[in-house]
Amino acid sequence: MRRPFVAGNWKMHGTRAENAELIEALLLGLPGEVQVDIAVCPPFVYLWEVGRLLKDSSVALGAQSVCAEPLGAFTGEVSATMLKDVGVEYAIVGHSERRALYKEDDALVARKFVAAQSQGIVPILCVGETLEERESGQTMDVVSRQLSAVLDVAGVAAMRNAVVAYEPVWAIGTGKNATPEQAQEVHAHIRSAVAAQDATIAAGLRVLYGGSVKAGNAREIFAMPDVDGGLIGGASLKADEFLEICTAARPSG
Ligand code: PEP
Repeated sequence: MRRPFVAGNWKMHGTRAENAELIEALLLGLPGEVQVDIAVCPPFVYLWEVGRLLKDSSVALGAQSVCAEPLGAFTGEVSATMLKDVGVEYAIVGHSERRALYKEDDALVARKFVAAQSQGIVPILCVGETLEERESGQTMDVVSRQLSAVLDVAGVAAMRNAVVAYEPVWAIGTGKNATPEQAQEVHAHIRSAVAAQDATIAAGLRVLYGGSVKAGNAREIFAMPDVDGGLIGGASLKADEFLEICTAARPSG
C-alpha cells in the first residue's frame, strides 16, 4: 500500500510574515493522525526559517530545485549538501517552469535527480507534456522520454527513493486540470514503464498528479488507482485549501 503524499510548491511566493502565518494555520488545522505524507517547498531563501517553524511537526521541508554540481564556482546555485544541511527532505527536479524558462533539459534534470539522492534527499521528478504535444498524440512518448532520461542515468533502483509527479504543462497554473481519466492513463503508463524494469519498485513508487488541483477537484483525481497524491502550486498558498487537499488524499477519502 502506497502512503499518499501531498507536496506544496510555493514557487516564488511568500514573505517571512506570510510564511509564518501559513505554517501556523497549516499546523493548527492538521488532524492528529494525518495518514498522508505532507511537504511544503518554499523558495530557497526561506527554507531554514520554514524548517524551524515545521520542527517536530509531521510536515516535511522540500526545495523547488537543486544544483546538479556538488559545490564550487556556481554563482546563484544551491547544492544538495546545503539543502540537506538546512533540513530539506525532498527536492523538486524537472518542474516544467524550469524546463521551459531556464532551459533545463532531460540530461540536466537527471543529474539534479542524482545530486539530490547523493545527499539522501528524495527527488520529486516532474514529467509532463505541453498542450501541443498532447494534441499531436505525443503525451506518452514525452513522458517516457523524460522518465527514461533519469532511469538510464540513475538506474531503476533509484526509484525506491524517489517520487514522480505527472504535471501536464497545460494544466499548471491554468485552472484547467486533467480529468481523472487522463491522469490515470498517464500514471499507469509511468508505473508500467518502471515495472518493465522492476515490478516491485514500480508497485511502491508514488506518482503524484499536479496541475490546477484544488479542494474542489482533488478527491476525484486522487481516487484513481495510480494517483498517489498531488503536487500543488497555487492552492498550497492557502492553508484551508491545502488542508482540504491533504484530507482528500487520505486513504479513507
Ligand atoms: C505546480 O507548479 O507544480 C503546479 C501544479 O501548479 P498549480 O497547482 O498552480 O497548477
